[in-house]
Amino acid sequence: MIIGIDDTDSKDGMCTTYLCAVLIDELQEYGSITGLPLLMRLNPTIPYKTRGNASVAIQVETDRPQKVMDHVISRIGSLAEMDSETTNPGVVFIPDKDYERTKHSLGEYFRRAVTGVLSIDSAKELVLELDIPSKSFKNGRGLIGALAACGAMQNCGWDHTYEYIAYREQNVWGSPRLVDKTSIHKADMETYPDTWDTVDHANDLIVCVPHSPDPVLFGIRGKSVEDVTHAAVLIESEPIERYVVYRTNQGTDMHLIPLTNISDIREMHSYIIEGTVSRTPVTIRGGHVIFAIRDDKGDEIDCAAYEPTKNFRILVRKLIAGDRVVVYGSVGGNTLNIEKIQIKSLAAKSETKNPVCPSCEKRMKSAGSGQGYRCKKCRTTADSTVLIEVDRDLDVGLYEVPPSARRHLAKPLVRGDMQDCAVFSSR
Ligand code: ATP
Repeated sequence: MIIGIDDTDSKDGMCTTYLCAVLIDELQEYGSITGLPLLMRLNPTIPYKTRGNASVAIQVETDRPQKVMDHVISRIGSLAEMDSETTNPGVVFIPDKDYERTKHSLGEYFRRAVTGVLSIDSAKELVLELDIPSKSFKNGRGLIGALAACGAMQNCGWDHTYEYIAYREQNVWGSPRLVDKTSIHKADMETYPDTWDTVDHANDLIVCVPHSPDPVLFGIRGKSVEDVTHAAVLIESEPIERYVVYRTNQGTDMHLIPLTNISDIREMHSYIIEGTVSRTPVTIRGGHVIFAIRDDKGDEIDCAAYEPTKNFRILVRKLIAGDRVVVYGSVGGNTLNIEKIQIKSLAAKSETKNPVCPSCEKRMKSAGSGQGYRCKKCRTTADSTVLIEVDRDLDVGLYEVPPSARRHLAKPLVRGDMQDCAVFSSR
């Protein structure tokens, strides 16, 4: 049977992946877990999310399915943050006999949960239509993610990466995490580029250790079970209660929809769009950098490199009107939040300068208002300023936000095969 679970945590604690880790151990009593559990990231713009819009799925081989279902439902009841208004757990069970007949519908639902916006009713209707066992708590919004995670388990041909998540002992939840920074750097040095987003070197930040009061101690992301495990065992820390390696759609760009016309953009969706910079970047209050692009039909959208993208904003500030770019990111508030940008071509930039003296080759000085320019030393003169093309100090190629600002779903450039162009990966 496949079990999909979502929405058990709140900003004050817990994490649906922790519940999954506990169940992986406890369900051994009724059968055996087959394959790796899934950690699926769904549409990153959904406002109901606690943090990263994750849902989980596990597969259990059992001859006591009712016991398994009862146990899972009872553990959701005891571990989920039920008192939080925004916690609305859902769990879905796909018995082996229903696997084939539900596979297609659930696969479709999974794709829509990653790229689109779904209603609670759509989830309840699908559960009824497919006639599968499920349990929802409170408003049942968690059914959306639970169904999507089951669909991902049944249709597992998607691009994937791995994450090793280590969990804290319960008595220290909420207190500062004790993880040795030097050992994290060592783990990163030994395993990058097969692991990524452990450290943000440019901004001197540890990325793999969260700061929220949940049970996660650290998470290592990478391209194989061996790579993430290799890095994780190098990290020195407080005692680890348990750990799980997940198969995940993190770092795959699965949320991005290629789009030609800006007029087709919808709020709370994520896109790859090509256009020409139509408004030069400005830095607004809070340090956010905003510019606009225009598509070939003349429609425009604002694009933002928000303050948390740190040094990425230095690059974005160098853009000028006329540059041809492809932007990757999510749309909210009529603004595309940039995750990556490909600079395809650069517009010529010129500056007005005083003319150069033909004798000494130094710049002439103004001879006074409306009186042209002259070189005092050589006594040469000129009527007007000259336009000079200046170096853009910017290369065409593909750029990304730093690891500390990366969305879970965003594909890091270090994973390769992005484009046939220069790639400037951020580390
Ligand atoms: P954590 O990162 O700790 O796992 P979270 O960020 O995953 O927490 P949840 O508490 O799971 O946040 O809340 C997200 C809610 O949004 C869930 O109820 C989930 O079912 C729902 N949801 C997920 N994807 C979509 C979607 N595409 N459309 C509508 N609702 C969605």
